[in-house]
Amino acid sequence: MAYVSLLPSVQAFLRQPHGMFLHGCSVSAKGGKLLPVVNPADGQTIAHVGQASGAEVDAVVESSRQGFKSWGLVTPAQRSAVLFNLADLLEAHGEELAQLETLQSGKLINISRAFEVGQAANFLRYYAGWATKITGETITPSIPSFNGERYTAFTLREPVGVVVGIVPWNFSTMIAIWKVASALVTGCSVIIKPSEFTPLTILRIAELAMDAGLPPGVLNVVCGDGSVGKALIDHPGTNKVSFTGSVPTGIAVGASAMQAKLTRATLELGGKNAAGFLPDVSLEKAVSGIIEAGFLHSGQICAAAERFYVHRSQIDPLLDQLVTRLKTLKIGSPLDDTSEFGPVTNAQHQQKLAHYFAQSRAQNNTIVYGGNVIDRPGCYVEPTVILANSASDTLMTEETFGPVATFLPYDDEDELVSLMNDSPYGLSASLWTNDLAKALRMIPEIQVGTLWVNMHTLLDPAVPFGGVKSSGMGREFGGAFIEDFTELKSVMIRY
Ligand code: NDP
Repeated sequence: MAYVSLLPSVQAFLRQPHGMFLHGCSVSAKGGKLLPVVNPADGQTIAHVGQASGAEVDAVVESSRQGFKSWGLVTPAQRSAVLFNLADLLEAHGEELAQLETLQSGKLINISRAFEVGQAANFLRYYAGWATKITGETITPSIPSFNGERYTAFTLREPVGVVVGIVPWNFSTMIAIWKVASALVTGCSVIIKPSEFTPLTILRIAELAMDAGLPPGVLNVVCGDGSVGKALIDHPGTNKVSFTGSVPTGIAVGASAMQAKLTRATLELGGKNAAGFLPDVSLEKAVSGIIEAGFLHSGQICAAAERFYVHRSQIDPLLDQLVTRLKTLKIGSPLDDTSEFGPVTNAQHQQKLAHYFAQSRAQNNTIVYGGNVIDRPGCYVEPTVILANSASDTLMTEETFGPVATFLPYDDEDELVSLMNDSPYGLSASLWTNDLAKALRMIPEIQVGTLWVNMHTLLDPAVPFGGVKSSGMGREFGGAFIEDFTELKSVMIRY
């Protein structure tokens, strides 16, 4: 076992009071309510974070309005440079940030290092390149000239204003960085509201952002439960919400945004993602694919697959091989860098998974492997494989957001496509086959925002990401985010 020793900088950060990052400084919130931050690996409270009061939300928004003005005076090239600096600082403080993230979320330390830090830096650098490439277009107007006058027109992409970035607990650093980067390159200021379960890392990153050269007020962080998020959306001084989280909360956020003042809203929500395996794929490749799609970070990935469709002729041997592989996974502390499977992120989530296991048993599903909370300190559950009876079973329809792969056999490709589409959600899916011609014919049939072929879960900053159906509105990454973080202004000139 290679157990990671906590850095002195991590221990010092945990000891300091936490509340907000306001106008360039870490300050403790005076709202009164203190929210515990609990390490899900052992159930110990590692810090407390003060929930912002109404007056503190006002102060944060006021700071962000000032930040928006000052950021507007900064050239695109300078904005880009600040993001590059921040990416360098994330890497320079990589071990500190990874340890903080693992302590608050239970994420395996290697995943924190590679994704929460490494990928976050990669995304920042990708976005940094966009700062200098945001353009409008010139248009030749179509109206006739009556008296010999001429017309010309062009469009400008202008920053939407103060953005509220609301972040879930599963990838609290990387998702916060997506929102920060999208806002900053388009010239917006941003207020991050992290999940109450995982507020620490972004508070530390906000400090680093000042060292990177960000003016005060351009990035603020305000902590607290969902009521703080709602107060920010409803506030007259904010202009947009970029939300990532569950479908029910996303619908509530969208409704608040529309009711408040037509606040612009993009919603990256959950789903019940499908993976379909054609029979030409070897069992070995299919098993590796299922582990990649369903069990990385204990399945707590919005894009992870939870519904697995396998040809009837293969389902029994495939489940046997999958169970054999899952039995070898080393379950252990997320700070042991040889662990392969850690806890889920909080006790509430562990209880929710226990409820789904009970429901699955009540519906007479076959629990092929796992299906229990693990009897040890912390929020551990077993990696679980379930064989459902029908497409309407709860485990085939509701997002567990855990390490739970539920299977159903299919008989032909038409049935496979119709089963994959049999969901109100459409965030992502994967199709596994060696026959690319067949895959290309099936791609247009599958109703999702992102479809992977022979892979699952990998997000790339150059490839737009977002859901169709009830999995959300809007896109992140690529150039697609620009539309959501800017307003289009049309200018027409007579001469
Ligand atoms: P939640 O929807 O519970 O919470 C998300 C964020 O919203 C948290 O910061 C939460 O604060 C806040 N919030 C809660 N209520 C409100 C409200 N009324 N107004 C404004 N903000 C509010 O999601 P989880 O944190 O539980 O994350 C898991 C979910 O996120 C899964 O469903 C998963 O699929 C989805 N997800 C989607 C992704 C995507 O890109 N499509 C990526 C990652 C996750 P608090 O935590 O303090 O309650």
